[in-house]
Amino acid sequence: MISLHVLGTSSAKPTKDRSVSGSFLNGPTGSVLIDCGEGMQQRIAEHDRWLRSIGSNERTKLSKIKAIYLTHAHLDHCWGVLPMLHSMDKDGRKSKLEIHGPTSTAALNWIKDRPGEVPDSDSGIYAGDLAIQFDWWEKHGGKNGAFQFEVEWILYPVDQIDTSGIIISNKEGMCVQAYVTNHLDLPSFAYLFSTPELPGKFDRSAAIADGHNEESIREIALDSSKYRGPKRPSRSILISGDTTPDVPSFVELKTSIDVLIHESTFDDSLQSKAASYGHSTARDAASLASHIGANFLGLTHFSSRFQDVSHLEDEAKSVFDQSHALNDGDRISIGLDGLIHLERKGDEEWVSIKQLLKS
Ligand SMILES: [Zn+2]
Repeated sequence: MISLHVLGTSSAKPTKDRSVSGSFLNGPTGSVLIDCGEGMQQRIAEHDRWLRSIGSNERTKLSKIKAIYLTHAHLDHCWGVLPMLHSMDKDGRKSKLEIHGPTSTAALNWIKDRPGEVPDSDSGIYAGDLAIQFDWWEKHGGKNGAFQFEVEWILYPVDQIDTSGIIISNKEGMCVQAYVTNHLDLPSFAYLFSTPELPGKFDRSAAIADGHNEESIREIALDSSKYRGPKRPSRSILISGDTTPDVPSFVELKTSIDVLIHESTFDDSLQSKAASYGHSTARDAASLASHIGANFLGLTHFSSRFQDVSHLEDEAKSVFDQSHALNDGDRISIGLDGLIHLERKGDEEWVSIKQLLKS
């Protein structure tokens, strides 16, 4: 199962009910973060207390995080990383942490040639590029001047990636791919998390009924298709980051997507603003969901001008029926059987908002 805990649904500025970007994903190969805005570590801890209080078998804990995937360098998406590293250090973390993100060849050359210097405006490099930030963060280590655990910064120059994207990690059970998106002049990524296609379920009782014993079952289980059900398809979730809708990689996307989490900063009335600020409307997100044949769309990254986002959901629904405006704390799970479930925090348990089974 893939389970995404959405812990921030506001755009650049937090509101009373919404924090800036960040989600905690539990999957077959462990836990990762996608974006890590201000205050993320407290949100993770608070969400974990809630999970514990309802007796959930899931956890969101700092110590479980194996990797952080940053969509881009704007601070509402990454300003929570450095304090989180310090807390991990104080907690005595020893295991390696990977931090992945987009950059440019020019920025990578800059930190090699002029380490510690901030690029000026005619360098063509965004002064807050992740390469520049990482260079700086490295100098702000843990309590003894260095983190007690290894932090592996892994940056990918977007100018060297074509529309088919890149595979960042392909461990047994989960593949992570990055696609270049379009957010102002900033290197930016969308991330696709997908499980591998699995062989059909083995029908043990049918094999026993045919006279097989433990030993022969072990042998036939490996290669017999006789007792296996249909293949179980890959399950996937695509997380957009900040972007306009005109992303060549999305137009060409060849894989089928179960869940699309897409930014919807603006509504229909602010369409022109969306384009000039490098963002999308809810309707744009819905058009993409429809184009790529997603089963479910989660809308997030709402402008702080909206107290109520129900009209954004309505605008999206007019294009793509399975559009849902997300709240902080929501959980979206995708079962290997294709069951997609959106749940919201209630007083003492999850409240089911939507269940959808697509085989
Ligand atoms: Zn943002």
